Amino acid sequence: MKIAVYPGSFDPITNGHLDVIERAARLFNKVVVAVSRNPEKQHFFAFGERLEMIKLSVTHLKNVTVDSFDGLLVDYVRAKKARAIVRGLRAVSDFDYEFQMALTNRRMAPQIETVFLMTDYRYSYLSSSFVKQIADLGGDVSTFVPPAVARRLKKGAR
Ligand code: ADP
Repeated sequence: MKIAVYPGSFDPITNGHLDVIERAARLFNKVVVAVSRNPEKQHFFAFGERLEMIKLSVTHLKNVTVDSFDGLLVDYVRAKKARAIVRGLRAVSDFDYEFQMALTNRRMAPQIETVFLMTDYRYSYLSSSFVKQIADLGGDVSTFVPPAVARRLKKGAR
């Protein structure tokens, strides 16, 4: 059984994240999307909302589950009996941070591999912060995010 964990803030989930989840779901028997609880990080959406929006967006993927974690990611991955951490790559700008994190995690848990999946080029510029800014300014974000997120972000919904 090949299990992968896809960790992140997902604040909120975008079509770029979803594209990575769909790719991972084709590669692994089971994919756990793990929302970081990290109370030190300032989030736009409350933890429960981030989780709920992902759940509503992955209903078509039968081997994907949504969960949360706090503490060390490698401890969580071990507890889930997963062998791989999935991360998404957009542009070179993601590389430094992802490289550092992957090597640090490998140092702590050599048996866990980080697997990088490239998003479709249509989403390579897309980020959660961009989506939030556009929504905040009253723009239409429906081409950037799954329908559940678009509904939530619609002006006046907050
Ligand atoms: P974190 O705070 O852990 O970086 P994010 O939710 O911002 O959490 O991102 C989670 C993962 O998804 C990261 O590996 C990030 O590079 C990747 N990611 C974010 N947006 C996209 C996108 N548009 N296409 C592909 N990967 C993405």
